[in-house]
Amino acid sequence: MGKPTGFQEFNRELPTKVPAAERVKNYKEFVNLYTDEKLNQQSARCMNCGIPFCHSGCPLGNIIPEFNDAVYRQNWEEAYHILSSTNNFPEFTGRICPAPCESACVLGINKPAVAIEEIEKHIIEIAYQKNLVKPTAPLVKSGKKVAVIGSGPAGLAAAAQLVKAGHAVTVYERDDKPGGLLRYGIPDFKLEKTVVERRIEVMEKDGVVFKLNSEVGVNVAADELVRNNDAVVLAGGSTIPRNLMIPGRELKGIHFAMDFLKQQNKRVSDIAVDGDDILATGKDVVVIGGGDTGSDCVGTSNRQGAKSIKQFEVMFQPPAQRTQHMPWPTYPMVLKTTSSHEEGAERFWGVNTLEFLGDDEGNLRALKVVDVEWEQDFMGRPVKFHVVEGSEREIPCQRVFLAMGFLYPQPAGLLAQLGVELDDRKNVKAKEGVYRTNVSKVFAAGDMRRGQSLVVWAISEGRETARKVDEFLMGHSLLESKDAVN
Ligand code: FAD
Repeated sequence: MGKPTGFQEFNRELPTKVPAAERVKNYKEFVNLYTDEKLNQQSARCMNCGIPFCHSGCPLGNIIPEFNDAVYRQNWEEAYHILSSTNNFPEFTGRICPAPCESACVLGINKPAVAIEEIEKHIIEIAYQKNLVKPTAPLVKSGKKVAVIGSGPAGLAAAAQLVKAGHAVTVYERDDKPGGLLRYGIPDFKLEKTVVERRIEVMEKDGVVFKLNSEVGVNVAADELVRNNDAVVLAGGSTIPRNLMIPGRELKGIHFAMDFLKQQNKRVSDIAVDGDDILATGKDVVVIGGGDTGSDCVGTSNRQGAKSIKQFEVMFQPPAQRTQHMPWPTYPMVLKTTSSHEEGAERFWGVNTLEFLGDDEGNLRALKVVDVEWEQDFMGRPVKFHVVEGSEREIPCQRVFLAMGFLYPQPAGLLAQLGVELDDRKNVKAKEGVYRTNVSKVFAAGDMRRGQSLVVWAISEGRETARKVDEFLMGHSLLESKDAVN
């Protein structure tokens, strides 16, 4: 343990940020790094609990007290070794994870939790600076070939683990760049794309082959891929967005969030956008949906110079603190306030959109909305809502971004060709902990299997699936499992 009295001496402090008025002038990341002294103090706040609940709070089983101790002692090699033993990509989770480890931190019961996510980011950034991040593939190869379909965090984690086990891995990605939603969903101001590219370079040096512009089931035959490989991992994500099929949906100016965000990510990287420009510049914008995707639309609209931004969420505002009967962490935790809200947006809770209203040319001019009140059960969970009488009104706007989540993976093409069985939510059916589909040699990981989720869960599933593939190919596996940590 770094410093036994650290949690009493030091308060939680997060690194400073570039002020909102400045940072909206560009798409760069805006969270500064700690000074050495601050990093040291923050790591000293870890209490090295007898039962470290942070381990099990983290879907990767990160060994947090141990890396905090190594950071306190400034032993960067050890800190990096501990962190990378459970997490292939701390540079992603250290920037964009909602940090369930911090919700589970025991210090959090009566003081603010240890700043685990920031410490994680510092470990990996220092590791890159000190040239500690090196390829890990063994010299002796297994002679087995594995195809990974999809290069989001699940596919990347599976690939990184499988090359570590000595297999020849090829990742097929339909986009022109690897990274999945890390590349074309999450904006640069949360995760600069050089961070993704830096990791892809390490993986390429490790021997992972990336085949881009390769959509399996469209320009790459799915059955051939299965025939030519010893195993296949499906990691295609959850890509069908939830629509809002109300009157006026056909009007011009209503877009799915991902169409808007993907275009802007391409512009920042100087890549030509597909189709007509979707821009918020000079428009009154309404974002429908209160999760991560919604707040990314808010941040992007601000940077594009929207005239006004409103964000509507049909759910009630989550309580800031856990209430008496509420489970830990608070429900619904996905509707959090993010740095994008600091940059300017009016946020409305308990608002339901009834109709999109247009002008004579078919352009969106307003929304018709009502306020709703929720009935909650004894734990504070939503049961049903009632419309507030007399609350119907029009909200003038010329752009709407639909950010209401994703339903399931695309069923046509890849999944249909392989004959993969789907579960009752239309995700790929493959039991958690087993990750095998009904098709011989074919496994599944990430959002395509569990439904839309988080980067940390995608990495976790990619790692666990790689272990199952390795066991399938070799009869046993030496790859780490989170079950061994917890
Ligand atoms: P994806 O990242 O979706 O990657 C799937 C990849 O498969 C894609 O590149 C796709 O092109 C490719 N693919 C699909 N089908 C084929 C095919 N047939 N052939 C070849 N390639 C194919 N999570 C967080 O933890 N923190 C956040 O801040 C956060 N912000 C988000 C913001 C947005 C806008 C969105 C949409 C999601 C966000 N998430 C966030 C969720 C997170 O990004 C996902 O849970 C995660 O990326 C899922 O990883 P995945 O690898 O399963 O799928």
